[in-house]
Amino acid sequence: MLDKPFRPETRVVRRNGAPPLREHSADICVVGAGISGVSAAIEAARLGRQVILIDGLPALGGQAVNSIIGMIVGLFGNPPKNKQLTHGIADDIIRDLSATGDLHLVMGGVSLNALYNEVALGRWVERKVLELEVTPLLGAILRSVQREGRRITALELATRYGDVMVRADGFVDATGDAAVVWGAGLECREPAEGVIYGSQMIVIENFEEAHKPSRAEMSERIRERGAQYGMIRRDGFAMSFPGRATAVVNMTHIENPMDPFGASKTGLEGKEQADLTMTFLRSEFPAAFGEARVRSYGLPGIRQTRWIAGRHHLTVDEVRRGVKFPDSIARTAWPLEQHHNAEGYVWEPFDADHVHYVPLGSLTPPAVDNLVAAGRCIDGDATALSSVRVMGPCIAMGAAAANALDLAGKGSVHEVDLAALRKRLAANVED
Ligand SMILES: Cc1cc2nc3c(=O)[nH]c(=O)nc-3n(C[C@H](O)[C@H](O)[C@H](O)COP(=O)(O)OP(=O)(O)OC[C@H]3O[C@@H](n4cnc5c(N)ncnc54)[C@H](O)[C@@H]3O)c2cc1C
Repeated sequence: MLDKPFRPETRVVRRNGAPPLREHSADICVVGAGISGVSAAIEAARLGRQVILIDGLPALGGQAVNSIIGMIVGLFGNPPKNKQLTHGIADDIIRDLSATGDLHLVMGGVSLNALYNEVALGRWVERKVLELEVTPLLGAILRSVQREGRRITALELATRYGDVMVRADGFVDATGDAAVVWGAGLECREPAEGVIYGSQMIVIENFEEAHKPSRAEMSERIRERGAQYGMIRRDGFAMSFPGRATAVVNMTHIENPMDPFGASKTGLEGKEQADLTMTFLRSEFPAAFGEARVRSYGLPGIRQTRWIAGRHHLTVDEVRRGVKFPDSIARTAWPLEQHHNAEGYVWEPFDADHVHYVPLGSLTPPAVDNLVAAGRCIDGDATALSSVRVMGPCIAMGAAAANALDLAGKGSVHEVDLAALRKRLAANVED
């Protein structure tokens, strides 16, 4: 009401003594609200658990939303069958976003993929969290992990509004960087040498889709002339979103050092690279990109940094052979997609019927009973991870983490009834 009276007087406040520590208890605490953490939180809530979903960003959706990845891959098997390999929240996202024209299933790379509008996906996640009464704790950076023997008991987090302590029976490390496992003082893995590049993604507007050059044409031109524009990466692509004159451009390579100053700097350098990419596209393909402008820069896209040392170290040999494990919880047919060269990525697609699997052992650090990793920080060699870290299997891993912790209750995730787990996750593992 515009005529509601407003009192202009103020009151004086001052912090007295140590700031209070807010405490919260839940059944399951998920750290990291990317696609794997969101899947874990939603599945755990659907199992009737009280869930808290934490992220260092003041926003949900992780890289899928905030780094503007733009396409869920690894969800479907290879053509001609195009079998859907992961269900759970993948089904809900496909159904709900397709209904509003915010998701399209398109052939791209080697398989059928889900091209999505990141704003719509972000709102979908927010609505689900509210609907399922998941407690969100955003802008909360993990500061320390409390561990008693084989159990994680509590996390301490710093927020701009004060510190928070969260206790839970089970924890999911969906941070991408294995932040919970690292904080608990457990073994983690990093690339033994070199770096695995991330990318600065951008969304462009005023893009003339009708004149879009083919992917091969674009790749050839980047290889030939990219250096003249100062581009570091000499491959990449633009994914146009049907009917909206927008596209997501993935043509940069940035380092993602696990160092606060380094990470801050390379994030800014990534935007410079994206701008060089725009100059290249506008000059070389004026019919398609001449009027295009950057509408938004994603947060730095991070592929692989630090990950857990689990009970099982998934190897590229197991991936190539399509080994199915007694405790398989996720699968994909996505190629090996390695980004260890600044100039471009190395791509190894698989045969039509190939599928490879992720075992629960790759999600579970052996020294603790109530912590499960999910998403891009599970245990594998760097090449195996380059495939299983894409969003399709990340969704399946989130579901597996929720179900393993639900079955474990106050017991151990290493001793859950595997037959019961397999039954619950059958849609993501069995034909
Ligand atoms: C440039 C790029 C392009 C890609 N292209 C595709 C593609 O086309 N299709 C596809 O399917 N996949 C793609 N991938 C891979 C895929 O996007 C990621 O591997 C996947 O999104 C990872 O999801 P996640 O939930 O494991 O982690 P993330 O999405 O990284 O989420 C982790 C969350 O944890 C939070 N967090 C981290 N540390 C802390 C902490 N200490 N305290 C609190 N919170 C913390 C972060 O803020 C973040 O929100 C791409 C990746 C990149 C980088």
